[in-house]
Amino acid sequence: MRNYERTIKIAFDVVSKSIIDAELVLKNTQDAFALRKQYNEQKIKPICCECQQELVVSHSRYDRVYFKHKPNHNFCILIDEKLSPNEQEVFISNLQSKESPRHKELKNKIGRLLASEDGVDVSSINVDNHFITITNEKRKPDVYCEYNKYKIAFEIQISKLSQKYILSRHNFYKKNGIFLIWILDNFNIHNQTGLERDIKYLNEYQNFFKLDERTESFKLICDFKKSYLTESNQLRTKWINESITLGQLKFNNQIYQAFFYNFDENYKNNEIFQIQKEKAIIEAKAEVNSKKELLISTQKVENVISKIAKLKITLINQDKLSL
Ligand SMILES: [Zn+2]
Repeated sequence: MRNYERTIKIAFDVVSKSIIDAELVLKNTQDAFALRKQYNEQKIKPICCECQQELVVSHSRYDRVYFKHKPNHNFCILIDEKLSPNEQEVFISNLQSKESPRHKELKNKIGRLLASEDGVDVSSINVDNHFITITNEKRKPDVYCEYNKYKIAFEIQISKLSQKYILSRHNFYKKNGIFLIWILDNFNIHNQTGLERDIKYLNEYQNFFKLDERTESFKLICDFKKSYLTESNQLRTKWINESITLGQLKFNNQIYQAFFYNFDENYKNNEIFQIQKEKAIIEAKAEVNSKKELLISTQKVENVISKIAKLKITLINQDKLSL
């Protein structure tokens, strides 16, 4: 089977600006027929939710409808990468979630709040309307803006993690010199067992962001692992979160990653502090010990002196008696 012949079940219709799910349409053959008719009459214009290229509506001999890329289409991860059926399903559900009311609410809120932030170029803010193209690949971030000299793409993640989905966006934005900030929603990062690798692509600094909806300015709740020394000088880590402003974010130009708390740097610093503290404790103990020894030897000397004194008295008394 040639690549372009592989089928996909969802498409974005540029006319109605909504997702068409072929499986839902399939439940009613009458609708399947209607969909093909609408397509032939150009009343719907399906594009791929992932690569944004035009799709055609096709049907099988059993009268099933589905979408296909056109022959000689450019690269599309859904077609050209060998995704397992499960991977494809999670990938598609990530794309589908973009049309959920919550997803739309979040991206509009982010766009609106960014407009009143210092340093944000208001004319650069785009909610779901900014295409970024590089060598045949095209992406449309949920929200795009330019802040000081940084280009930032916000992608909202509300469904379960798909490593391929996250990695494809991670690599694409990095290649374009764009900082990708994942906005997680309804999502507990600490429950993601066995997904360490995937989580790393969300943020190499292990900083995870949610939109702080308790304020009327743009703030993010950052979850991060903080390292600290206990009173007994043990190095420990714990997850905490903090509500931060855009101005509190730091930007790493090498890996195009925005972060608030640098876990590795803080951990290494704490390791150094731990060694220094340990040394100081040993030195303090040694000092205490030497003082104790001094005290003991002083007492010994005093004991000897008092013994000598007593001896002298005895000797003097003996002398007196012998006289
Ligand atoms: Zn595609």
